[in-house]
Amino acid sequence: MRRTVPTHPAKSRLDEDEIPTAATLRVLRPRRASPTDVARPTRAEINLAHVRHNLRELEACLGEGAGTGAARAARTEVWPVLKADAYGHGAPAIARTLERAGVSGLCVALLEEGLELRNAGLGCPVLVMGGYYGRHRDGVEALVEHNLTPVVYEASQIESLVSALRYVRSAPDRNGPAERLAVHLKVDTGMARLGVTEADIAPVLAALRQAPELELVGLMTHLACADGETLEHTDEQLRRFASVDALVRRAGFAPRVRHAANSAALLQRPDARFELVRPGLAIYGVDPCPGLPRAGLRSPRLRPVMEVVTEIVALRDVPEGACVGYGYTWKAARPSRIATIPIGYADGLSRALSNRGEVLVGGRRAPIVGTVSMDLTMVDVTDLPGAALREPVVVLGHQRGRFGEDAIGSAELADKTGTIAWECLTSISRRVPRIYRQA
Ligand SMILES: *Cc1c(COP(=O)(O)O)cnc(C)c1O
Repeated sequence: MRRTVPTHPAKSRLDEDEIPTAATLRVLRPRRASPTDVARPTRAEINLAHVRHNLRELEACLGEGAGTGAARAARTEVWPVLKADAYGHGAPAIARTLERAGVSGLCVALLEEGLELRNAGLGCPVLVMGGYYGRHRDGVEALVEHNLTPVVYEASQIESLVSALRYVRSAPDRNGPAERLAVHLKVDTGMARLGVTEADIAPVLAALRQAPELELVGLMTHLACADGETLEHTDEQLRRFASVDALVRRAGFAPRVRHAANSAALLQRPDARFELVRPGLAIYGVDPCPGLPRAGLRSPRLRPVMEVVTEIVALRDVPEGACVGYGYTWKAARPSRIATIPIGYADGLSRALSNRGEVLVGGRRAPIVGTVSMDLTMVDVTDLPGAALREPVVVLGHQRGRFGEDAIGSAELADKTGTIAWECLTSISRRVPRIYRQA
């Protein structure tokens, strides 16, 4: 039986073109809503001037309380972390901003994320921290051809890098790095996630020794408890890192940079800064451990980079006793004015904010009432006289208006939803267009 489904011929050809092939699969293409093809007023505003400001603040922190004499003689490099689409801010725009601001390298988690940056025209070193380059050799070849810097911790990774390098160098139509390929060796000093332990390092060093095509430029580890108050876990990890560092150097390697510090360690552990630091969250303007005492250390004045804003699209007055939203989880205790905003959990506004969260209207807080739905959320504006259709609403960020001035940060959202600021930022979905501002 033939069904007569009206299809637009040009459109269906386009769809066929979009079926991913091996070549298109190599690059992460999230197809985020672009500002020009959304009708809805919900958007994430990304302030690139704040990215530059946060970078300068972190550099200022590195300049102070950062050890003495010889340790400070060489400047610590800042390689910001742009994994997960730059924590939801849009990796290409953030990368261009940071590259122009003078960073000497960037970090991502996935090969795909590194390729996305190369596709966007970024030329600086890009460290691919996840260590997985695909089950087939084309992943490693893509890495080599695009001169991305791999993290290694197993002999097999080193062998497959060498064979990919030899192959692309011998193939007339492929590009390989002219020089030796830089690699960073990842050490597991206690987190038990990725990396080689001191006990297992001998075969990895042996593989590196047999790979003159590779140059061990970095030695890295990752800290599990840098944002906590307990120092001893980090102390222990750093002791193990120092021990592996000595071992690697005794084995004849001379990695130019050692790195261990995420944002938290950068801010509160000068002894974890070494020659390079890898801040993520702080670059986006969020302090990973606000309120922790940092004796003798500078606290940066970070500026949040992302704000999520929308507008009131519906307003209604409900009598006392009326209910709101799915499941009738909120009941008006008085005659109330309810505003509907076009943002929901599919946009990254956690459903855990139902009857708990707040938004800003006119610079003052208004409570979220009822259950957050997929696309829409209701707020009680009874105490905000004059709240009107199309009035701006801030879900994340700062607002100044006729009632005053206030801000809702990702740490507050995280607190209320039982998660962390990292997850709040990376949860803002691709349905929300990112709008970039330079000031
Ligand atoms: C995510 C990540 C970072 C950055 O962490 P923040 O806490 O966001 O600063 C640094 N290093 C590695 C290995 C990471 O996975």
